[in-house]
Formats: sequence, C-alpha cells, structure tokens
Amino acid sequence: MNPRGPGLLSLVPFVSVDHMMRIVWDIGVERMLVELAAYIEEDFRRWELFDKTPRIAAHSAEGVIELMPTSDGATYGFKYVNGHPKNAAAGRQTVTAFGVLSHVDSGYPMLISEMTILTALRTAAMSALAARALAPPGARTMAIVGNGAQCEFQAVAFKALAGVEAVRLYDVDPRATRKAAANLKGSGLDIAACGSSEEAILGAQIVTTCTADKRNATILTDNMIGPGVHLNAIGGDCPGKTELHRDILLRSDIFVEYAPQTRIEGEIQQLDAAHPVTELWQVLTGEAPGRRDARQITLFDGVGFAIEDFSALRYIRDQLDRTGHFVHLDLLADPDDPRDLYGMLLRHRPR
Ligand code: NAD
Repeated sequence: MNPRGPGLLSLVPFVSVDHMMRIVWDIGVERMLVELAAYIEEDFRRWELFDKTPRIAAHSAEGVIELMPTSDGATYGFKYVNGHPKNAAAGRQTVTAFGVLSHVDSGYPMLISEMTILTALRTAAMSALAARALAPPGARTMAIVGNGAQCEFQAVAFKALAGVEAVRLYDVDPRATRKAAANLKGSGLDIAACGSSEEAILGAQIVTTCTADKRNATILTDNMIGPGVHLNAIGGDCPGKTELHRDILLRSDIFVEYAPQTRIEGEIQQLDAAHPVTELWQVLTGEAPGRRDARQITLFDGVGFAIEDFSALRYIRDQLDRTGHFVHLDLLADPDDPRDLYGMLLRHRPR
C-alpha cells in the first residue's frame, strides 16, 4: 500500500530477479522465448514509428555502461546495461541490467524490472528470430563458441524457434563448456562438448559466437566458414570488441538491427562506413530478402538494440496481472496537491 494514501499512480510495479524467475517458470522457458520473439517481431514490423538512437555508452578500460532509450510515441522505455568481461574472474556477471517503461503522456513510470535474465532471454529470442529468416532451411546443428551466461539461452531459443536439434559447444575455459552441457541436459537437445572451435563448427549449419573479450579477437577465421552457413555473432558489441575475421564479413550478406549503432559497435566496425547491410526489420516486413540461396553466407551482426528491450519490458508488463509476480514500489513523490511537495514533507516530519 502507498503509505501516503490511495494514490495508486505513484506506486510502480517492480519485478525483481526472484519475480522474473517465477514468471519464467510459470510460463515455461521455451514458451516465453517464443512469446518474446513475437513481441520483438511485432515492434520490428512498426519500426518506423519508434524514436531511434545509438545507445549512449560510457567506456572505461574494463568495460562499458550503457543507456538504451526508445519510444513508440505512447510508451517510453530504457535499459541500463553494463558489459565488463573481466567481471567473471571476480565472480560477477559480465552483463547486468535493469529497465523502465513509462507513460509518454504523463512521464510516470509504469514498470521497473530486473533485466539481466530478461536480456539473456530477449537476446536469444532476437537471435533465433533472425535465424528463422536467414539460416539455411533444414538447419539442425548449431555450434556455440563462448559458453558463458548467454549460451544456454541461445541454445534453447534456437530449439524453440529455429528447429535446432543438436548443439556443439566450445569455450577456452572447459569449465564453462561443462556448465553449459550440464544445464542443457534434459533440454531435448543433443549436446556435444568440443575441444576447439574448429571441432565445434564441424557439420554445423549455424554458428553462434558469444564470447566476451574486450579486444578485436578472431574467434572465427576465414578458412573455418564454408558456403551456406548462418553466423549469429552476438559477442562483439562495443568499439574495439569484435569476434570475426574481416575476410568473413567480406564474403557474407550482413544483417543488423539498427545500422547507425551497429556500425559503431558490431563486427562491421571493421568495414567501410558505406559497406551495404540490411536492417532486419526490412526482412521481417518483406521489404528486403533474407536468405536467397543455399551457398550464401548470412551474418546476423547482433549488438542488441533498444527496441528489443522495449518489447521485452512490454511483454513483462503484460504478464503482471496473469502471474502476480511483482511488488509495488513507493517510487514517486505524488502529493494530493501536486504543488504542495514541501507540505507533504512537513506532514511527514518525525514527531
Ligand atoms: P560471459 O563472460 O558469461 O561468457 C563469455 C564466455 O566467452 C566465457 O565463458 C569465456 O571463457 C569465453 N571466451 C572468451 N574468449 C574466448 C575465446 N577466444 N574463445 C572461446 N571462448 C571464449 O559473457 P556473456 O554474458 O555470455 O556475454 C557474452 C558476450 O555477449 C559479451 O561480450 C556480451 O557483451 C555480449 N552480449 C551481447 C548481447 C547482444 O544483444 N548482442 C546481449 C548480451 C550479451
């Protein structure tokens, strides 16, 4: 209850990490990934309506802290997210996040939510949505290079949305691969733990890279990628942080979320600013083709864009009544007489 009276508007639903996990299990992981993908697709289909800007990044030697805002004119959303590859060694997450959704007409927040788990879910849903349009038909095997926090979410999303049946895992740290293999036991996926990235990509029609390293790493070299493969490169998402050798990019048809942001942060920071890329919304609306033939290499250069987080928050807002997993936060000072903010403070002077 609002300690100052019944002004419900000043109480903001808050979804904690614990609530988020309950929401996920009430709905089911695979079903939630499918539903999240549908929300993202719905928003990508009305792409032109949204305010769009590359995210606002504060870089340091160790990582980055970013704000990701957008609005569809009626609802505004933003995410706070960090990326600190060295955190893992100190027992912390590389990526943590929270987000807010607000009414544009009043500016009042309607939801505040944890987004560390939600980001992993939306990133996986986004990757699988892209693969549905770009991967070769009948692709059943995916390699995942980088078996950290994002890995299992990716695997399950590709099973639920893109027909993947087998996943081949590789990480420089074998403990990460063992963790991912153990977590995916019972998922219905056929899991193979591999000793190198070359071994992992053997027979894979889809290759996901989700490594974390703040440098221009070469996770995949040109000779490793044959014709017809779909690449889902999501780990390189900052200036100076990439995963693929430039020559792979030159042989690929490249698909991105929002080109102005991806040119700064994605694999394509290695290419000329004029190198042609297709924004995925164009494929989803039928304005541009996805995969055209069996020999084409398609690359989804995913960095994560604000509209995906907006969609994910919108989805969580729509689950609140259904699941009841949230609390009201006393977040906004909202006196009965809007101009009497000081009077409200006086009335609450401790006696
Ligand atoms: P994480 O730190 O939990 O896992 C990264 C893994 O990569 C680690 O297990 C590490 O051992 C492994 N790795 C590092 N260098 C490697 C190499 N050369 N070969 C193989 N494995 C290697 O991080 P995470 O949360 O899983 O995120 C992975 C990456 O994805 C990060 O860079 C993050 O910024 C990015 N990310 C992107 C999006 C997006 O929307 N595109 C969303 C979330 C995270």
